[in-house]
Formats: sequence, C-alpha cells, structure tokens
Amino acid sequence: MPTLLGIPFDANSSYLRGAADAPAKIREALHCDASNSWTESGVDLGASDAYRDAGDLPLPDESRAFNKIEAAVLEMLRRSERPLSLGGDHSITYPILKAFAQHHSDLTIIHFDAHPDLYDEFEGNRMSHACPFARTMEERLARRLIQVGVRTMNGHCREQAARFRVEVIEMRELPAWERLKVEGPVYISFDMDVLDPAFAPGLSHREPGGMSVREAIAHLYAIEGIIVGADIVEYNPVQDISGITAAVAAKMTKELLGKMIAQG
Ligand code: MN
Ligand code: MN
Repeated sequence: MPTLLGIPFDANSSYLRGAADAPAKIREALHCDASNSWTESGVDLGASDAYRDAGDLPLPDESRAFNKIEAAVLEMLRRSERPLSLGGDHSITYPILKAFAQHHSDLTIIHFDAHPDLYDEFEGNRMSHACPFARTMEERLARRLIQVGVRTMNGHCREQAARFRVEVIEMRELPAWERLKVEGPVYISFDMDVLDPAFAPGLSHREPGGMSVREAIAHLYAIEGIIVGADIVEYNPVQDISGITAAVAAKMTKELLGKMIAQG
C-alpha cells in the first residue's frame, strides 16, 4: 500500500526557505472539498484501504534530520510499504535513496526537474538541494538516473552528468514517452520546478519554459515499471499565489498515488 510521509525540512535550500511548510499545505489541498477524491485513471483515493498517511516526520534537530529520514523510510520499506514523501527541499531525496538502496539493487530513478541537481558542492554545502543526485550516483544508490525537463545545464553539471552516465532528457527534447518505458523498480523524484512558473509560481527557483501540468501528468503516466517509491519536493508556499501551486502539488500527489495504487 502506498504511504504518504511529510518531510518538513528546508535547511539545505540555497536561495529561499519555506518548503518545510509544504506538506501541510499539500494535504489541505488534497482534502479540499473543491474537488472529489477520484484520479483520472479511475482510482478512488477516498476508499479506506487506498493508501495510508503516516503524517509528518518530526525533525526538531536539523543536524540529525538526514539520519531520521533514512531510518523512517527504511522502517516503511521493511513493512513493505511504498513511501510517497512530500518535501521539503530536494536534499531530502538523498537520505530517502540511501534507505531504498538497502532494499533495491537495480533501482531506476526518474527525476523531473528544471535543474540537474548534480553539483559536487553548492556554496560550500555538499548536502545542498543542488547536490542530491551527485551524492546518489557517487554512492551507486541507483542503477540508472533519468532526468526529465532539465533546462539549466551548465558546464560543471554537464561534466558531472557524463561522469555518472546520467540520461538527461532536456526540456527542449520533450515529449519523450518512449524513454520512460523502463524495466525493474522505479523511484520517481518530482521537483515542482519542472513545471512552468506560470502553472506553479510557488517555487524557490522559478525557471520559465517548463512543463504544463498536463505535460507532467502525461509523462508520469507514460512511465512503465513498478513504482516502489516517490517524492514531490520544492513546493514553497511563501512564493505561492492564492494556493494555486498547492492545488497543483496536490494534483500531482493524487495522480501519482493513483498510479501506485493501480499497481497493487
Ligand atoms: Mn531539484
Ligand atoms: Mn529544481
């Protein structure tokens, strides 16, 4: 059964904090009476056995947060749950994947993002939200990393992508349905800034020229392979306008949960 887990942590944000308040806002939008509980694929999230919500992980001590995140996810995997984590900034994906690597040796990560997040370090911080996939690939936590929607590549990150054999599908190459038909267990990491800020203004790093909500949903549904876990990160309520981005994050949560539930 998929399990929602809120991870209210934004201490590794480089530019603006605020993403720690996202899980509560996403849940609020998910349960809002303005919409019903059915996904486009025909799954009713309102059914009592559809998914579990584990609530938010208490993270009072920032310096211990990564250990707590890894331990919490590991415990869920031991119970054969499939976590869908709500961030938080993107740095949380690294401890999550450390837990996944202990259960899956052949993981494929499909990473939606305007940014490659492959910096060796960013402003002196190797745990920055700009670095999680450099750490992930250095430690060989996944077999493949496929990035979708990237539009901020620089020389350093291009070198890092080549060094780690990252399969980068840049925004200008979309659509890319065929390249998302992968085999084996899949982990989806969805950075909200893959979306165009016109659709999702509530972001710390607004990067124009991104996906529409419809393009994101269509690429999500094009993914083949069993989804063993996922995260939705980088929604920043401080930057939102009228809760538009909360509604979009809730919509992505809903369709992702629906896809995971349909797989059993
Ligand atoms: Mn990111
Ligand atoms: Mn990003």
